[in-house]
Amino acid sequence: MTFSELNLIDPILKAVADKKYTTPTPIQEKSIPIVLQGKDMLGCAQTGTGKTAAFSIPIIQLLANKERRSKGIQCLILTPTRELAIQIEENIDAYSKYTNIRQAVIFGGVRQGPQVAKLKKGVDILVATPGRLLDLIGQRLLSLDDVGIFVLDEADRMLDMGFINDIKKVLKILPTKRQSLFFSATLPENIVQLSKSILNNPVKVEVTPVSSTAETIQQYIYYTNRDLKKNLLLHILDNPEIDQVLLFSRTKHGANRIARELDKKRIKSSAIHGDKSQNQRQRALEDFKNGDLRVLVATDIAARGIDINKLRYVINYDVPNEPETYVHRIGRSGRAGEEGVAISLCEPEELDYVKDIQKLINQKIDPINDHPYPQTDKPMTAAEKKEWNKEKARRKQEFFANRKKSRSSGGGGGNRKKAHARGRR
Ligand code: AMP
Repeated sequence: MTFSELNLIDPILKAVADKKYTTPTPIQEKSIPIVLQGKDMLGCAQTGTGKTAAFSIPIIQLLANKERRSKGIQCLILTPTRELAIQIEENIDAYSKYTNIRQAVIFGGVRQGPQVAKLKKGVDILVATPGRLLDLIGQRLLSLDDVGIFVLDEADRMLDMGFINDIKKVLKILPTKRQSLFFSATLPENIVQLSKSILNNPVKVEVTPVSSTAETIQQYIYYTNRDLKKNLLLHILDNPEIDQVLLFSRTKHGANRIARELDKKRIKSSAIHGDKSQNQRQRALEDFKNGDLRVLVATDIAARGIDINKLRYVINYDVPNEPETYVHRIGRSGRAGEEGVAISLCEPEELDYVKDIQKLINQKIDPINDHPYPQTDKPMTAAEKKEWNKEKARRKQEFFANRKKSRSSGGGGGNRKKAHARGRR
C-alpha cells in the first residue's frame, strides 16, 4: 500500500514524501481511513509504530478541507510529557507544511508568555500537556469551545503519571459533539473504562499487542551482581559498535550517578529526568540526536515519547519491576522497521522481574554468559530483605537529618546560594 492509496490530499502526500516515508506503517494504514470518515477510534499501539502520523495526517486533512468558521482551536491533542508534546507538534508542523493549518504546543515548566502569544495569533491544532492546558483555561487565555476533534495520547502513561483528575476536568470542558481518538500502549481494565467515557461507538485498531515486542529488536540479558553493574556497563560500552545508546535507570539519583560515572571514564553522557529543567532536557536530547553524546541516561517518565530516528541500542541498567515498562523501554529501539538491540543488566533481586517479563512477551531473553562479571550472589531471603529495607530507611533518614542540620547552620544552603549568584553573574 502507498500513501496515495489512502486518499490523501496532494499537500500531505508532498510533505510525507519530504519525510522520505515510502509506505504507511500498519497503524497508519488502518487508522487513516477511520479518522477520515469522522469515526471515533480506540488505538492500541506503542510509540515507534508511527502512531503520531496515524492520527496527525488525517486530522490535518479533515481540517485543511474545512472552511475555517471560527478562530478557535479545532483539535486538541492531550499527551503526558513535554517531550512527547514537542515531538507531536514537530510532526504536525512537518506534515502540514503545504497547508494553511496552524498548530501550537503548550507544556509546563517554562514561561507561559511565548505560548500565550502564539495562541493569540490563532491556532487550529493544539498539542498540550494537562497541567498547562488547565492552567491557561483557568486564566481564560484559551478556550476549548470550538474543539471538534480530541486526541488522548498515551492514555496508560497518563494514568500512571496521576493525570486522571486532569483528564476528567478537560472532558467536562470539551464540547460533547466531537470526534475522539484514544491511544494507549496497553489496555488494562481502568484504561478500557476511561476510553468508554470518552469514545462513542469506536473502531478498535490494534497493531502491536503489548505482549509482543517488535520482531526487529534483539534482546539480551547479562546476569550479574548489584555491585558489579557499573563495571559490566563499562565492559559492554567497550564495544565501539554501541555508538548511541539510551540507558534506563529506575531512579533520578541513579540516572545522575550513572552519568557521572560514565563522564569519569570519558564516555560522553547526560541524564534526563523530572528534576532537570526543560532547557536542560531539550539540550541533552539535541546533543544526543546530533551524536555529541554517546549515552543518554533517562528515567522511564523522562524517556517517554523520546523520538530518536534509528536508535539501535537500549540498555536497561536495571530490570523494571513492571513487565509493561520493559516493553515500553525496548520499544525505543528498532523504530519503524529499523533493527534494534535491547540489553538488560540483571542483579539477583531482579530475577523475579525477568520471569514476569518473559511470561508477558512469551519469549526467553537470550542470556550472555561469557562476560567477566557473572552473577554469584543469591537473592536475599525475606528476613534479609526486611533488614536491608530497614537499613535503607535509616540511611535516608540520616541523609535528610544531616542536610537539615547543615542548612540550619547556614553552611551548605548559604554557600549554594552564593555559588549560584556567582554563576549568574
Ligand atoms: P511514532 O510511533 O509516531 O513515535 O513514530 C516513530 C518514528 O517512525 C518516527 O521517527 C517517525 O518519523 C517514523 N515514521 C512514522 N511513519 C513512518 C513511515 N510511514 N515510514 C517511515 N518512518 C515513519
